[in-house]
Amino acid sequence: MLEVDLGAIADNWRLLCARHPRGPVAGVVKADGYGLGARAVAPALHAAGCRHFFVAHLDEALAIRDLIPDALLAVLNGPIPGTEDEYAARGIVPVLGSLADIDAWTATARRAGRALPAILHVDTGMSRLGLDPSELAIVQGDHGRLAGTDLCFVMTHLVASEQRDSALNERQRARFAAACAGLPPAPRSFANSSGIFLGDGWGSDLARPGAALYGINPTPTEKNPMRLPVRLRSRVLAVRAVGKGDSVGYNATWTAPKPRRIATACIGYADGWHRSLSGRGAAIFDGTPVALVGRVSMDLTTFDVTGQPAIVPGSWLELIGPGQTPDDVAAAAGTNGYEVLTSLGARIERVYTGR
Ligand SMILES: *Cc1c(COP(=O)(O)O)cnc(C)c1O
Repeated sequence: MLEVDLGAIADNWRLLCARHPRGPVAGVVKADGYGLGARAVAPALHAAGCRHFFVAHLDEALAIRDLIPDALLAVLNGPIPGTEDEYAARGIVPVLGSLADIDAWTATARRAGRALPAILHVDTGMSRLGLDPSELAIVQGDHGRLAGTDLCFVMTHLVASEQRDSALNERQRARFAAACAGLPPAPRSFANSSGIFLGDGWGSDLARPGAALYGINPTPTEKNPMRLPVRLRSRVLAVRAVGKGDSVGYNATWTAPKPRRIATACIGYADGWHRSLSGRGAAIFDGTPVALVGRVSMDLTTFDVTGQPAIVPGSWLELIGPGQTPDDVAAAAGTNGYEVLTSLGARIERVYTGR
């Protein structure tokens, strides 16, 4: 069971607003609101005052358009050819990241007979999406190329903003300033979650945080300033005694060194409880960690609960919560908090509080 405190997400958004006085703060709700449920998170942010939203796919935008009808809703991945009319019809803003995207969108505007809103993405170091330097030079030299677009924002995306001292941040700041200087005047969008904490120079007319809203630490070397809005618990299905030498789980990767009590919880890698936690992870019971033993399997995970006689079938083990944050789970699993949250599967029941 995944309990999501929507009030804590709204509080996190307000805290980010306070840290970003230069302009509004969007809500990035891609990947189903980082796994927590975009159809719950987006209206909660909207109720707190958020009026700019980002998703990755058009389908993700269509899935929440009705809930936030007056908000700017933009698609980071850009328009797939052939989908432009749907963007225009549903009032969804594409993030244009190439000359082909620009030309397709201006053609759509011509057909529609009206200016259509767009966000222009400039690549300043990620080398994934966004105008590359040669494409940028073409647009800078010919602003008419954007005719028919209503340029809401020019944006770029930080490569290493969680590393405060990385020289990449300053390099991107300089490149973004130079890019914008040669483009038609438009508001700018720069910082993601960690970018907001880099300082004034990385602020802009619109910040785009995702992770920090959901409690992932945007300042990994410092205390987490965000509230944790998620609690993941899993029910114990069975508890059994195993003797010295008995093995637990696939391939017998763990063998009891002496008599132990093993609890089996109903979560596994198919639920996004990563298999790489095998033999490394833990759960929290009554404030105390219990060690994960053996392989994480598809639907089940086993814990050594020898010292915890109160754990019986029907008990709940906490897998994510105050005692074990998404960042903690990530450290044990060899990934980041983003992947921990976005992996949480559809089988896990979401329960929303704090509306
Ligand atoms: C995912 C994403 C964000 C949000 O980043 P966080 O680190 O989660 O705050 C912002 N901008 C772009 C382009 C993204 O892809």
